[in-house]
Amino acid sequence: MSEHILEIDASQFDHLVGKAPLAVVDFYSDECPPCEALAPKYEALASVYGEDVKFVKIFRQKNRELAESLGVKGSPSVLFFRDGQRVGETLSGGIRRSSLQNQLDTLVGPEKAQALRAMETSRETRCDVLVVGAGPAGLTAALYAAQAKASVIVVDGALAGGAMGSTHQIANYPGFAKPVPGWQLAENFREQASQAGVQWRLASEITRLDLGDRSAVIDGLETIRAKKIVLAMGTSPRALGVPGEKELLGKGISTCATCDAKYMVDKDVVVIGGGDAALEESQLIAQFARKVTIVHRRDEFRAKPQLVEAAAANPKIEFLMETRPTLFRKNGDEMEVELLSPSGEVQTHRAGGVFLFVGMLPNVDLARDHLEFAPDGTVQVDEWRRTNVPHVFAVGDLVSKPVRQVTMAVADGTVAGIMAARELSEN
Ligand code: NAP
Repeated sequence: MSEHILEIDASQFDHLVGKAPLAVVDFYSDECPPCEALAPKYEALASVYGEDVKFVKIFRQKNRELAESLGVKGSPSVLFFRDGQRVGETLSGGIRRSSLQNQLDTLVGPEKAQALRAMETSRETRCDVLVVGAGPAGLTAALYAAQAKASVIVVDGALAGGAMGSTHQIANYPGFAKPVPGWQLAENFREQASQAGVQWRLASEITRLDLGDRSAVIDGLETIRAKKIVLAMGTSPRALGVPGEKELLGKGISTCATCDAKYMVDKDVVVIGGGDAALEESQLIAQFARKVTIVHRRDEFRAKPQLVEAAAANPKIEFLMETRPTLFRKNGDEMEVELLSPSGEVQTHRAGGVFLFVGMLPNVDLARDHLEFAPDGTVQVDEWRRTNVPHVFAVGDLVSKPVRQVTMAVADGTVAGIMAARELSEN
């Protein structure tokens, strides 16, 4: 650990943090992937800001009382102090370097911040395979390449798991007799890849990606140069394009049941969509909500029949077919959704919350200029998941496939990981 970081316990808190002009405290836990992702960033920033700000780490499990008295509810949680008083926002979860640095800048003031930032040195790292995206496809490509003795770095703006990581339960991943929570499966993937030697840059931003010279700039400071790149950026929720949707996203409209279903206790909820996600996630929402109304634009669901049957059998779930939303607005704490029925009638439906599951779009903005795309917007690849750019692969939901399942993502990652390693050994 950096000489600028002090590991303390609760008994030293008042003396060391309370009396410091400026301090930052990281409450961490063991067996905590976001804590592990934060540690190298905390160290790196301590070596830049450590002369001016006291950097402290406190093991939360052994200092529970102190953590609770400071309102710490999760690990990691990073708190900022000026003259012993809390300042700024508490950071928690998958903390990005930029979020931490912005708060440190505020703590030291703009002039000092500018001077410290000027002192930061950029660095260059080389690896055999750079995997962009830590969902199941990227993690599998990384695993196979690393097991074949390639040096592999995985970078992701969030933590490991991608969309799989925020799926409530995964009931069809072979080898797990009972449904497994998505975060658990993600953690298993990450652990296995770590044991194979994969290096991580999680909760890190790619500020530039150049497929031509196969380099990526991470958090504006580190340039990674790779012999092979595997693109595994996955997808993001598709927008409906309905008035009010953009403004109310995160303020009444959600695209993540795992994140927000728990806030729907005893509420009436509207779910828009008719695919697997809408039908499956409605079950989770129904565990909390009073009623879930699935609104679908056609008279037939796209989802698998077993998911439709299960939803139909749930007394809390109702279907509103051949119906489309035309407007979202807020009325006090409630959401109002205008729904257009097949007869052309528009009715206002009140809800405690709205969830959109209307499909996903590939995240290709970082690499759009170089790649060739299929007509459906996915990245064009050959059977080995090679793109049109030499030494660059694309896997998972970036690539066209008849069904989008974790097993399919894993299959893509397998093919690309093996081929990337094979090409490396041939050169
Ligand atoms: P999806 O299969 O593409 O379904 C999207 C749904 O949203 C469709 O029912 C579609 O209606 C509707 N929709 C799209 N645009 C709309 C609009 N403008 N207005 C109203 N409705 C609109 O997407 P998904 O459910 O997110 O699933 C994505 C992929 O992940 C799929 O391949 C799915 O199999 C997979 N997945 C699997 C599981 C599982 O196996 N347990 C769970 C989740 C996701 P139409 O049907 O009329 O086009």
